[in-house]
Order: sequence, then structure tokens, then C-alpha cells
Amino acid sequence: MIQNKKLIKNLLITLFLLGLLAFLIYSFIEYQKSGIAKDGVVTCVNEQCFWSAHIHLNVPIQICGEEYALPKFKGSLADHHTHGDENVIHWHDKVAFDAEKKQFSGPTPFVLDLIFKNLGLPITDESLLNKKDGDACHGFISTWKVFINGVLHSGHSDWRNYEWKDRDIIMFIFDEREAEEVEAELRQKPITFPNVGEG
Ligand SMILES: [Zn+2]
Ligand SMILES: [Zn+2]
Repeated sequence: MIQNKKLIKNLLITLFLLGLLAFLIYSFIEYQKSGIAKDGVVTCVNEQCFWSAHIHLNVPIQICGEEYALPKFKGSLADHHTHGDENVIHWHDKVAFDAEKKQFSGPTPFVLDLIFKNLGLPITDESLLNKKDGDACHGFISTWKVFINGVLHSGHSDWRNYEWKDRDIIMFIFDEREAEEVEAELRQKPITFPNVGEG
């Protein structure tokens, strides 16, 4: 009888532990699915909320057929910055967040032109990295073309105001080719996100 009681007690403990384990696995999967881990977390203290995240962006740049490497270990750690990896922008910080409207309280820190400004690179309303539409590459009139995840950024809105998202691949190409030609090439050989190193 005493033996039986002990057996039942052990069985109950085992069942409880299995249940707990299942719950933890379920919670972890839900947490991953919800995207919280990827897209940042909102924390509030005394009505003041912050959105924080550690996110990355890949910015391949080609000028007149040459790869342009962004400077490494450049930019404030509290803003867009680079570490040791090639043309990967890191951002890990927190920004004031309006939890009711579910949006940033101030202007978004994620518009594209800020990247170049934060890294101390030349950018104006007309030019980028000292090249503007109409300048020449090897004697041919050339233009800037911007592809966001393989799709040409066109239309009325300026690419400078595009708000980037985690793991976007934003390619800048300055050459004499038509945008359609480059876009077709990118469809043939899509760029994959590079491995992100430390930081
Ligand atoms: Zn960093
Ligand atoms: Zn990082």
C-alpha cells in the first residue's frame, strides 16, 4: 500500500513536469510566432513607453560597376552604425513609443537618408556619394536606381524617406543601365541577406 502511494506520487510529479515542459515549449513557439523577438519589444514605465530592438539592414552599393564598401565600425552605437561585416547596418536602441496609437512618438529614426548621414557619408537632395543623376560612368550618362528587396523603388515618394524594416535588402546602383534591365538581373540572381557578425 505504501509502495503504491509512492508510485502514484512519483507519477503525479512526472506528469506535472511533462505538463510544465509542454507549456514552456508552447509559450516559446507562440513568442516566436508573434514576431516580438524579431520586431522589438515595447516596455512602459510610469506611462512612458519605449520600443526597443536590435535590427539589421543590408545595403549593397554599386557605382559605375564597382562595389562600394560602407565604412566599418562607423556611426554612433545609439543610431545606425556598422560593425565588421560588409555593408550591414546595425541598429539597437530604444525610441519613445505611443502605446495607444501603436506608433513612434516622434519622427521615425528609420528613414533611409539618415543612414548615410549617421555614417558621415555625402548625401544631398540631388546627390549620393558625390554622384547625381546625369553624371557619367565611363563616358555614359548614368542614374541612381534603388531596389528594395529586389523591387525598383519608383513613383512619387523619394527613396530618402523610405522607412526600412528588419532584414530589408536595399540596393543602390549608379550606372548607365535602365532600371528594368537591373531589376531583371536581380530577379535572375536574387541577393540573400549576408551573415550578420557580432554587434
Ligand atoms: Zn551594434
Ligand atoms: Zn547587430
